[in-house]
Amino acid sequence: MVAHVMPTDRLSSVDEHVERVVGALEPLPPYDQPLLEALGLPICEDVVAPMDLPSFDNSAMDGYAVYFDDVATASQDRPVHLPVVGEMAAGQTRLFALSPGTAVRIMTGAPVPQGADAIVPVEWTDGGVAAVRVMQAPKRDEHIRHAGEDVRTGDVLLQDGAVLGPRQLGLMASVGKAQVRSRPRPRIVIMSTGAELREPGSSLGHDSIYDANSYMLAAAARSAGAIAYRVGIVSDDPGEFRDALSDQLVRADLVVTSGGVSKGAYDVVKEVLSELGTVSFGEVAMQPGKPQGFGFVGEDATPILTLPGNPVSSYVSFEVFVVPAIRRMMGKLPYRRPMVRALCGQGFSSVPGREQYVRAQFEIDARGAHVHPVGGHGSHLMGDLSDANALIVVPAEVTSIDPGSQVHVLVLDRDF
Ligand code: AMP
Ligand code: MG
Repeated sequence: MVAHVMPTDRLSSVDEHVERVVGALEPLPPYDQPLLEALGLPICEDVVAPMDLPSFDNSAMDGYAVYFDDVATASQDRPVHLPVVGEMAAGQTRLFALSPGTAVRIMTGAPVPQGADAIVPVEWTDGGVAAVRVMQAPKRDEHIRHAGEDVRTGDVLLQDGAVLGPRQLGLMASVGKAQVRSRPRPRIVIMSTGAELREPGSSLGHDSIYDANSYMLAAAARSAGAIAYRVGIVSDDPGEFRDALSDQLVRADLVVTSGGVSKGAYDVVKEVLSELGTVSFGEVAMQPGKPQGFGFVGEDATPILTLPGNPVSSYVSFEVFVVPAIRRMMGKLPYRRPMVRALCGQGFSSVPGREQYVRAQFEIDARGAHVHPVGGHGSHLMGDLSDANALIVVPAEVTSIDPGSQVHVLVLDRDF
């Protein structure tokens, strides 16, 4: 495993680490998936229309199908009387040919009878059942939706790589496609390590804390389009971690761990994975989130990203490294969340030599896009993290931000 090896003598930049991760991963092989499964995924085929839309001429109104020439002179003062010789509702299969001098009652979406070249809306008539009085003339062809006017057989409806949203999915269904070829959602196994962790809902000892990370990261994985498998808490025992990991590999396209990668004793993730020689641990010049590990484990060389345990570090690392990994596996571009520019309402300082990710609130109003930092710097501050909807990204060489200056911002919780 050479591609992902991290230098141990110097810090990697964020960009280098993103490239290392994304560059070592392959998109998952595509297969035909039921439409709703593919929502939000890029498709892996050009979709060509197998049929016309509409597929037959049909009525755009509830009313009467007529020969235009029969009703051309109809007016309030000089209505035209026509016998009604039949009725056509949507879903009606019986084909109908209309004779001149007659009308057929027709409902929206019903096939237009052969010969008819206008629809008189019911509002322009007396609504008769056996015979109808037409009091206003339509134009020729009016209120008829023609076969193929929307989509023609052979049209390219979606190109390879297009992301299937609700409207595109509706179009696929309209032309009768039940499945579409796309890469599957990556299955992400999320494991929290730490002897101090307890499951929310259980009781806490004086020295324990609730496991926030596995929930937060599983939610973030799901938001990024992946399938998240949240594994219960794993303690700091190497054997337990090793067993839990090998049990999980069968259902993982990617494993994400939190905690246990610092320099302390009981840093179980680092201890166990370092022995394998296929996962490297290094430091990334960022704050929060300096300790990062990446590599491959198990028979199938399943990729693994090991994130630091402090919740804010864990979240920021997920956003910066795991989201691009998920998108790479889904074949979704761009891998990285595009940054937007905003005016920063408040000055602050930033450590030199580290790209800083500052929790912030971002807002667009009449004055444009602006942002201001929220809360403190501590990587344990969950309340502040929850108040934030954005991260201000301060480049490594910048040490202070003046109030009113332009900054780069990652606006969270948006698809891109
Ligand atoms: P570690 O990286 O394991 O040394 O953890 C760093 C800090 O993050 C410690 O204060 C941990 O208690 C805390 N921490 C680790 N994992 C979690 C978690 N899953 N949820 C909340 N806090 C955590
Ligand atoms: Mg720990």
